[in-house]
Amino acid sequence: MTKHDDVANSPVLKEHLPALASVPAQIGDPHVRQAGTIGGSIANNDPNADYPAACLGLGATIVTSKRKIPADEFFTGMFSTALEPDEIITRVSFPIAKKAAYQKFRHPASGFALVGVFVSKRGPDIRVAVTGAGSNGVFRVTAFEEALKKRFSPKSIEGIAVPADGLNSDIHANAEYRAHLIGVMAKRALAAATARGGGED
Ligand SMILES: Cc1cc2nc3c(=O)[nH]c(=O)nc-3n(C[C@H](O)[C@H](O)[C@H](O)COP(=O)(O)OP(=O)(O)OC[C@H]3O[C@@H](n4cnc5c(N)ncnc54)[C@H](O)[C@@H]3O)c2cc1C
Repeated sequence: MTKHDDVANSPVLKEHLPALASVPAQIGDPHVRQAGTIGGSIANNDPNADYPAACLGLGATIVTSKRKIPADEFFTGMFSTALEPDEIITRVSFPIAKKAAYQKFRHPASGFALVGVFVSKRGPDIRVAVTGAGSNGVFRVTAFEEALKKRFSPKSIEGIAVPADGLNSDIHANAEYRAHLIGVMAKRALAAATARGGGED
């Protein structure tokens, strides 16, 4: 029941995980941020929603009334999750990553992500999660993650193309456009993460 606005303005998050606080700060408008919740957003798993990228991009754990579900197993497809009909999300646990950032290319009318990319580095664990583009919802870009293991920098993913196969095409953007945007937003997120994270992991 934690509202987007509460997460965006959490002093604890602003100090320890500002990349996560920045995600709900970019959701919709003030009315939406005062009504929508992190649990509702994650359970809904809209393919253009922002929180799924943060959960997958940080390796969060979704805690429910029955069990703990790693984000890698939670988001199972468009508007679909591992939740059972009688299962309620009670908590979401996020590990702290010093190097992390989210960059979103907003649809100018709705504010939803045409493409949003969350990147993080926590020790050897490197994650690049994309929302807004996949026809099965949020997904990780393993080609970027492998390249970033050598050096966590925007330069490391230069020249690596994301295939347009399996990406959404609609009146707002075709699959090729979204594929290109993934690279652009990933580089912006990496630049923000490395500027924010300094030399620490
Ligand atoms: C105008 C507008 C603009 C928006 N822009 C954005 C945007 O830019 N980015 C973005 O990410 N989202 C955006 N949203 C979505 C919004 O942020 C909400 O998260 C979303 O509408 C779901 O609403 P809710 O959180 O109140 O959940 P609800 O509507 O209450 O619930 C959604 C679903 O999840 C289930 N559910 C709710 N809570 C739980 C729980 N704790 N455990 C298990 N199941 C649960 C409900 O039963 C329901 O099936 C926008 C919405 C609107 C209306």
